[in-house]
Amino acid sequence: MGFEFFKAFFYLKYLIVSHEAISVFDMFKIGVGPSSSHTLGPWRAAQYFTQSLDKKNILDQVTRIEVLLYGSLAKTGVGHGTDIAVQLGLCGDDPVTFDVNNITSKINDIRAMKKLLLGGRHEIDFNATEDIEFLYSESLPFHPNALTFLVELKNGETIAATYYSIGGGFVQQEGETNAESANVVLPFPVNTSDELLHWCRKTGMSIHEVVMENEGAWRKDEETKAGLLNIWRVMKECMYRGCHAEGILPGGLQVKRRAAALNKKLLKDKNYSDYQSWAQAIKEGGQQFNYILDWVSCFALAVNEENASFGRVVTAPTNGAAGVIPAVLQYYIIFCDGDNEEKITQFLLTASEVGSIFKKGATISAAMGGCQAEIGVSSAMAAAALTECMGGTQRQALMAAEIAMEHHLGLTCDPIKGLVQIPCIERNTMGAIKAITASQLALQSSPDFAKVSLDGVIKTMWDTALDMNSKYKETSDGGLAVNVPISLSEC
Ligand code: SF4
Repeated sequence: MGFEFFKAFFYLKYLIVSHEAISVFDMFKIGVGPSSSHTLGPWRAAQYFTQSLDKKNILDQVTRIEVLLYGSLAKTGVGHGTDIAVQLGLCGDDPVTFDVNNITSKINDIRAMKKLLLGGRHEIDFNATEDIEFLYSESLPFHPNALTFLVELKNGETIAATYYSIGGGFVQQEGETNAESANVVLPFPVNTSDELLHWCRKTGMSIHEVVMENEGAWRKDEETKAGLLNIWRVMKECMYRGCHAEGILPGGLQVKRRAAALNKKLLKDKNYSDYQSWAQAIKEGGQQFNYILDWVSCFALAVNEENASFGRVVTAPTNGAAGVIPAVLQYYIIFCDGDNEEKITQFLLTASEVGSIFKKGATISAAMGGCQAEIGVSSAMAAAALTECMGGTQRQALMAAEIAMEHHLGLTCDPIKGLVQIPCIERNTMGAIKAITASQLALQSSPDFAKVSLDGVIKTMWDTALDMNSKYKETSDGGLAVNVPISLSEC
């Protein structure tokens, strides 16, 4: 009787507590660097706003558009390309398909002509210097990353719409919830790692299997698998490109790209014309500790150098932290014999679930929680995924995520000149190595003796985020951003 009552109470709790439905493709989004919250999010916001004008049949009536950038979007917007992203979004361009090689020329054209093709078809006057306003000292209460679109129509009517870029490329319009996800009913709703573990225990499924069942609420399994392999294709192409691109990163800090030189050194100056032969050559180089360490760093550097160059990347869970998961997955594929499509999809499913638990219980936005919310979360995601792929139990996987985050707690976000370069690029190497160490520790440990739970560390991360001074939340008002004397040249 007592047990039945407890069971009924337990299931009632699931019915009462609302569970946000986050798909693996919400966590892993193909986009453009350098920032998911400051580039991809504002790009999407501008795109959605333009589409909303079109739906109301007033797009062709627009005579003027002004964009207001608040808080963190204003303070680090130039370094993160927020102004560029907004213009492309207003033009109706899509961050997934837009050719990143054309970004500079398109923005230069808008600047020179002082005209913009709204929604790709309706020409309006647009002077970015005047029509995009950086409100450095204003912040909206809901989230530090806010932007407002002000529109004037031919009949004199004005329209205003505010959007929030809430981290990882997620966008929310003021006064609206994500109606699409609100209607999705998952077979195994999860808000916390305890709930995830409950479903694993109840069904006997591993974490990635539970996630795959939930993904079934959006699409067929074959489509999910194909989509995940496409995500991995974009990640590995980014890594391969970054390992072969030399030069100086844009933005004026004169940061030299390092991945290509390291790649060359490790491969003893040999060139490989495609990803497959390149990966095979790396594998044949052996298993020496320093060699593996160098490669993991090289993979992470490569992705984030591409990210800093407005390259094509996948949010994982953000752009600034986009190198951690590809580096750890590549490590698994090359150095742990993981070159197997099933394992690659499993890795991404498990990683995404851990990321979404962090998003629900804390944040994946550096403007809310500092770098612990970006690099810390990506490291935890990678640690759990690697552990499960290496044969660890569900509890060991969650323990690995906990260890990885525990040692990122309090990590601040202080990018120099607001560029996603220093400390961001190197920081991805640290996140990747910590993920591998956390995974190895968990695989060698019994979760029965763990003192800190993943939910406990998520709560601690959130408490730390709330206590963190705003100087360290993607504003470039503190930390390295103000203490490193770097002479800047104009970009
Ligand atoms: S310091 Fe961390 S959180 Fe901040 S922009 Fe760089 S990678 Fe992102």
